[in-house]
Amino acid sequence: MRKKIIAGNWKMNMTPSKAVELVNTLKPLVVNEDVDVVFCVPAIDIIPAIEAAKGTNIQIGAENMYFKDSGAYTGEISPAMLADAGVKYVIIGHSERREYFAETDETVNLKILKAFEHGLTPIICCGESLKQREQGITLDWIRMQIKIAFQNVTAEQAASAVIAYEPIWAIGTGKVATTAQAEEVCAAIRACIAEIYDADTAETIRIQYGGSVSASSAPELFVQPNIDGGLVGGASLKPDFGKIVNYNK
Ligand code: PEP
Repeated sequence: MRKKIIAGNWKMNMTPSKAVELVNTLKPLVVNEDVDVVFCVPAIDIIPAIEAAKGTNIQIGAENMYFKDSGAYTGEISPAMLADAGVKYVIIGHSERREYFAETDETVNLKILKAFEHGLTPIICCGESLKQREQGITLDWIRMQIKIAFQNVTAEQAASAVIAYEPIWAIGTGKVATTAQAEEVCAAIRACIAEIYDADTAETIRIQYGGSVSASSAPELFVQPNIDGGLVGGASLKPDFGKIVNYNK
């Protein structure tokens, strides 16, 4: 039985002091023993957020990392830095990073390999554009993204990973994929993992849906057989996130 995982993606929001305030506000609202709760926060907020979340069920994650251990890469954050700070999860390959920061399936793969090397759990994002959906190539596109992302990743590593299916047209737009659309793609991702690895790995890996998840859409989405929780942007900055985490109460 897979435990649900619901992660907030704060994106480029919240100064360090605001981050502490938000963790303190959400702390009592996001208690749900059936769910792993993760707040993925901007790099500068990681340490104060970890302090503020001490003694709670909230785990602090990062929104990105570089694929090298250290060196002359001005402005980047290494996985060793994240691990040392106490981070467990890191979002890799969010569509905003692919669109604005030239991330490719190949760099996503390098980042995933590096994250595992440092004991971090990647939340691996994939998703199609509206044009690709209209062209009828959604499943082909996602399968390609998954196959490249998991190059040289062992079955044991893959089983511990999290995949976030995020249709690009649903991110920050208020347009949620229908439950049937989300379940169809998440099921196809699980089948693709079974093809690359085996049935056990596919049964163990957790697959989230992301894209304008709200307190009203979460309950139906998160009970689908292949949807193991969500990656939540806008709504993760509001008390509503507590309702999303408690989708089953
Ligand atoms: C995201 O940033 O991953 C996301 C899904 O954003 P939103 O929930 O705002 O659509």
